[in-house]
Amino acid sequence: METIPVIEQEIDSNFSLFSQIENKNHEQVVICSDPKVGLKAIIAIHNTTLGPALGGTRMWMYKNEQEALRDVLRLSRGMTYKAAVAGLNLGGGKAVIIGDPKKEKTEALFRTYGRFVEGLGGRYITAEDVGIEVRDMEWVRMETKYVTGISRALGGSGDPSSVTALGTFEGMKACAKRVYGSDSLAGKKIAVQGAGHVSYYLVKLLTHSGAKVFISDIFADKLKRFVDDFGVTVVNPDEIYGLDVDIFSPCALGGILNSVTIPQLKCAIVAGSANNQLDDETVHGQLLIEKGILYAPDYVINAGGLINVANELEGYNQERAHEQASRIYDVIANIISYSETHNVPTYVASNELAEQRLRQIGRIKSIYASRSEYSGRLGELNRKARI
Ligand code: NAD
Repeated sequence: METIPVIEQEIDSNFSLFSQIENKNHEQVVICSDPKVGLKAIIAIHNTTLGPALGGTRMWMYKNEQEALRDVLRLSRGMTYKAAVAGLNLGGGKAVIIGDPKKEKTEALFRTYGRFVEGLGGRYITAEDVGIEVRDMEWVRMETKYVTGISRALGGSGDPSSVTALGTFEGMKACAKRVYGSDSLAGKKIAVQGAGHVSYYLVKLLTHSGAKVFISDIFADKLKRFVDDFGVTVVNPDEIYGLDVDIFSPCALGGILNSVTIPQLKCAIVAGSANNQLDDETVHGQLLIEKGILYAPDYVINAGGLINVANELEGYNQERAHEQASRIYDVIANIISYSETHNVPTYVASNELAEQRLRQIGRIKSIYASRSEYSGRLGELNRKARI
């Protein structure tokens, strides 16, 4: 008789796959595996109340599978909130491929991954994220139509940075309106951290509006074109926090609002494009309030990038993408007003407004509208069942 081998493994007795998934109300988690091509991927669909789950695919050398799962669950949930508060009809999803992006990329790996995405039938739409390049997504696209954020050359929306910058600019103006009574940035002193893709377009908008811009980057060569094109003032990376300015705009990396940097800030507003700016949401969100600084929640003010790729799904139109990104002004204004009325920090206000929209739109979908809402085989079955 065949015996079943006992696999000796270290088991973390506190680890429960289902409790992790249920903890933040995820709908579905898909494990994709093909050892022949070295594929180990996890696709997490957090919530599809508003529409198909959209979010990038990240390739990263996670220490272990648990870390990868934690990351994909956290990121996919973040996408639900981002889409909801931006007023998009999209749900939240994300995927991670476990592996070394410098060494383990092959055509077969990405095409295999693409087939798993296709198999979800549009419940999850993917895009580029950390560790993924245009070429990788082109391989994925060979196997699935559920890809967005592709290059202009291939008929997609291309680099979203200018749209992200426009949304950030509008969100900043909404903050200025609350703090100074006017949304004009003329004469305002603004410190921008990071001389990258987004900040190039942002600084262009700021200087054209008459703001005085200070900028820092850890790589000196990135700053030259900012000085040449916009006449900004360069400062050292560690000086940017303590400048005597009206607005601090983090446009580099996450975690830069922390117990070391916040005490240095002299600004009245923090409004920038970087993701995950608060090192610890609760602790550092509170620290900003205690200093009387108005914080524009990062995932709201930088939603222009998501708005741009969402537009691609309906046939890309840059004018429409810009128009939608401009509405970030109203979204931020609404968050500020909610935060004041309910006496909660702005980052809590944006989460609550996102949850409110999910509840409201979820409820309207419970009303039967027409047969045309049902399509395909399932629709057929539903129709037959009713007749
Ligand atoms: P980027 O890589 O082009 O620019 C970031 C710049 O920050 C680089 O020049 C880098 O050298 C610099 N930098 C890194 N650490 C720094 C530090 N400690 N001090 C000063 N400079 C530092 O990135 P990007 O596309 O411009 O994005 C900027 C931020 O906005 C990122 O956090 C990104 O996740 C976020 N974001 C971007 C988009 C988009 O459309 N590109 C959309 C949403 C969010």
